[in-house]
Amino acid sequence: MTFQNSSNASLPFTLIDLTHTLLPEIPSWNGTCGFHSEIKLDYEDCSTDVKFRVQQLKLHAGVGTHMDAPAHCIKGGLTIDEIPLMELAAPSIVIDVSTKAHETYQVTPSDILSFENKFGALPPHAFVMIYTGWDRFWKDPEKYRNNLIFPSVSGEVAQLLLDRDIRGLGIDTMSPDCPQNGFPVHQLLLGNGKYIVENIKNSQKMPPQGGYSLALPIKTQGGTEAPMRLVGFLFKKEVSTAIEKMNKLFYDKERESKLIRASKMVRKNSMTINSEFSKIDDDPES
Ligand SMILES: [Zn+2]
Repeated sequence: MTFQNSSNASLPFTLIDLTHTLLPEIPSWNGTCGFHSEIKLDYEDCSTDVKFRVQQLKLHAGVGTHMDAPAHCIKGGLTIDEIPLMELAAPSIVIDVSTKAHETYQVTPSDILSFENKFGALPPHAFVMIYTGWDRFWKDPEKYRNNLIFPSVSGEVAQLLLDRDIRGLGIDTMSPDCPQNGFPVHQLLLGNGKYIVENIKNSQKMPPQGGYSLALPIKTQGGTEAPMRLVGFLFKKEVSTAIEKMNKLFYDKERESKLIRASKMVRKNSMTINSEFSKIDDDPES
């Protein structure tokens, strides 16, 4: 059955589903994802007039498209339920390395810098998705898992992204870190309160910049990882123009107030220097 009216005519945006569907056969870190959906009560066994199908789910927390919260590898770090909702919404960036990514490819700082040369600096608080093209193997779990060898991200990139003040990093492989390289990306990003999204689908359908994303993990108390729905937003032209204008105004204002603060500081410092100089002039010994 399909919804007849899924047109978005009345919405100011188009949505892109960046999430893989959960089923028992999907690729997973340990080879079994643990996803199991059981029917506990079926339509024909229902004694009520309105018939129901009731299901029970069992799954590992890090299943399918999912989020790693800081607490995943940082003791005392934020858990899934503690990440503020606003942090889960972000301007989205897609860095496409698919033409050169092979199984041991590591995204390097020069990939990020050449993206910035082409598309401009990463906006602050962005959700950065790396598109390696590895998601083409999703339906072949053994190949996708590939004995845990897949395109990944270098620790230097994680540091660069921290310098750009991102909200989170996502990738279309099992992890931005391959076990044989250690886990520098997890350590750096989660250690600095950022989140990681793994097993992203469809990120190539998002523009390199100008889109938005909303990352919605299941809100489990104390959760260190959680399956999620990741959604991309593409605003309609008029709306994105208005947003651009608004952002420009905001950043101009920020820059202006920074300039005012800086010039006040310069004035204050030069007054201090002047008064120090005048003290020297006043020194009768000189
Ligand atoms: Zn992870």
